[in-house]
Amino acid sequence: MKYIGAHVSSSGGVENAPINAFNIGAKAFALFTKNQRQWVSAPLSEKSIEQFKANCKKYGFEPWQILPHDSYLINLGHPEAEGLDKSRLAFVDEMQRCEQLGLDRLNFHPGSHLDKIDTHSCLLRIAESINIALQETKGVTAVIENTAGQGTNLGYQFEHLRTIIDNVDDKSRVGVCIDTCHAFTSGYDLRTLDAFNNTFKSFDEIIGFNYLRGLHINDSKKDLATRVDRHDSLGMGFIGIDTFRYIMNDQRFDNIPLILETPDEERWTEEIKMLYEMGK
Ligand SMILES: [Zn+2]
Ligand SMILES: [Zn+2]
Repeated sequence: MKYIGAHVSSSGGVENAPINAFNIGAKAFALFTKNQRQWVSAPLSEKSIEQFKANCKKYGFEPWQILPHDSYLINLGHPEAEGLDKSRLAFVDEMQRCEQLGLDRLNFHPGSHLDKIDTHSCLLRIAESINIALQETKGVTAVIENTAGQGTNLGYQFEHLRTIIDNVDDKSRVGVCIDTCHAFTSGYDLRTLDAFNNTFKSFDEIIGFNYLRGLHINDSKKDLATRVDRHDSLGMGFIGIDTFRYIMNDQRFDNIPLILETPDEERWTEEIKMLYEMGK
């Protein structure tokens, strides 16, 4: 079965996210558990944690239907000691917040070398950052997202994600999230059924579907292999609507959160409804 949702607002408190998800007809959702543009946020209150759990129960969201996303400031592959330490501390805090909320996974962008270290060293730093966070927490899987490869961001090749996984000690608590917009603009074609199947064949060979913990389902404002990260509403961009039909009719994407990060929130209810109809 497919579980579709969107990255909903948690403004006013994380406990509002499941309500916002329910209101758009979602069976999955993503959220930030703190302000994503600040390094430090107040800890989650007991009340907020309790209400979050109660609302998830009330609206039918199990932990595996929820894919929290970390702050954009964090760079787990930071080339400099100060930036790396700050990022590692903030990431542990993000993982602990997930643990407090009873969530089982945290989605994040791997990191950037900032033109100061080589790709391989940066990937090793990212893996070490994950190892540290896994030691400090229990029950939460670190879910690495593929990227568009904009600027000096790593994670735009499946091989990057593989190298990180290879260097994580506890393989049972590392996973990946594939973003269709990022995959496409990093050079993986998804527009025809053949192209789609080739891309996911390569994904399976290099990483493996057993590591897949979520999908970000976005169209793209930029063309194939442009390495620019600009999401578009489904069917409005360079990927096109057919790709989302392939996803909806492919059992390899069952029972994981499928999350819209499309720019027009007004369209989410309609996009979710359209996707469910495609899968019938
Ligand atoms: Zn994404
Ligand atoms: Zn993106």
